[in-house]
Amino acid sequence: MQLEGNVIVCDSIDNKGIEILKNAGLNVEYLPEISQQELITKAKDYDVIIVRSRTKVTKEVINSATKTKIIARVGVGLDNIDTLEAQKKNIEIINAGEASVNAVSELVLGLMLSLSRNIPNANYATKQGKWIKKDLMGVELKGKYLGIIGLGKIGRNVARLARGLRMNLIGYDVVPIDKAFAQEVSLITTDLKTLIESSDYITCHVPFTEQTKHLINKEMLSMMKNGSYLINTSRGEVIEERALIDCLKNKKIGGAALDVYEVEPPTNKELLELDNLICTPHIGAQTKEGQELASTVIAEKIIQKLSERSQEDIKPN
Ligand code: NAD
Repeated sequence: MQLEGNVIVCDSIDNKGIEILKNAGLNVEYLPEISQQELITKAKDYDVIIVRSRTKVTKEVINSATKTKIIARVGVGLDNIDTLEAQKKNIEIINAGEASVNAVSELVLGLMLSLSRNIPNANYATKQGKWIKKDLMGVELKGKYLGIIGLGKIGRNVARLARGLRMNLIGYDVVPIDKAFAQEVSLITTDLKTLIESSDYITCHVPFTEQTKHLINKEMLSMMKNGSYLINTSRGEVIEERALIDCLKNKKIGGAALDVYEVEPPTNKELLELDNLICTPHIGAQTKEGQELASTVIAEKIIQKLSERSQEDIKPN
């Protein structure tokens, strides 16, 4: 079935999804550099608006998007879309939650290994002509306790990968953790406080909500094991950054690795200058495979939704 309709792609996405949409008959405009103001002006022309994270689908954009049926986020979080306003206008919102699971999980392993073996500092010093081998005594992941906060799609995948590295797993979630899964990876389920106190590594995989804002705060950080490590690839707001800076400054914990920040890009020099902190620029989902999958998943979801709508339209009353 060939579809009709106009689609705007406002951020850079993998070409595969664009081809799928075009092959389905849709008219796709690829404007990955479009400014916020231009989008407000043009939004009225499109049935579907596709974004990643650069473009903000604000109330103003939604108000001018008078014929838009779908807003699609090629990724997971919907923080850049005014979902309430979209709901009011009966605009469907779709995302590609499945697509970045492996990409984020592998980054978590990379960050844990980087922290444990001091890889970023080792690289930097060696290239500066400094042979600092004696300062680079590392620790191994094997046999260490990894505390996973949030056992959703990414948390569960991290658990499976970490098990392959022979880590011991501790998990906490607000919803009951599936028993069969816990058994499969020998995961001990517990409350947040016990997880924090018992883990050598802690990794956060919760969404950003009112309940998860500063879930890891000063009190929680003070309960972490001396010399343990904290990794956050979820959302910056989940960790109280001010408290983390203090905790890293006084070397209470061994180090932290952040892919996400309270303000992105991060500007706080006090944070960025810490030598026991590893920073990456929100690259959790930034893999070739992840992006290709995300654009494909989104294109297929859009086609399915638009097909359902056109079937509805031709149904006799
Ligand atoms: P998911 O919805 O599959 O899982 C989230 C889990 O967190 C659920 O099991 C939920 O019950 C649990 N949870 C919610 N509130 C909680 C709380 N207060 N305490 C404990 N557990 C709680 O989500 P996901 O796909 O696994 O994504 C997890 C996080 O990763 C999200 O914040 C998402 O935005 C982020 N993410 C980041 C990147 C990146 O580029 N760094 C990419 C993709 C996803």
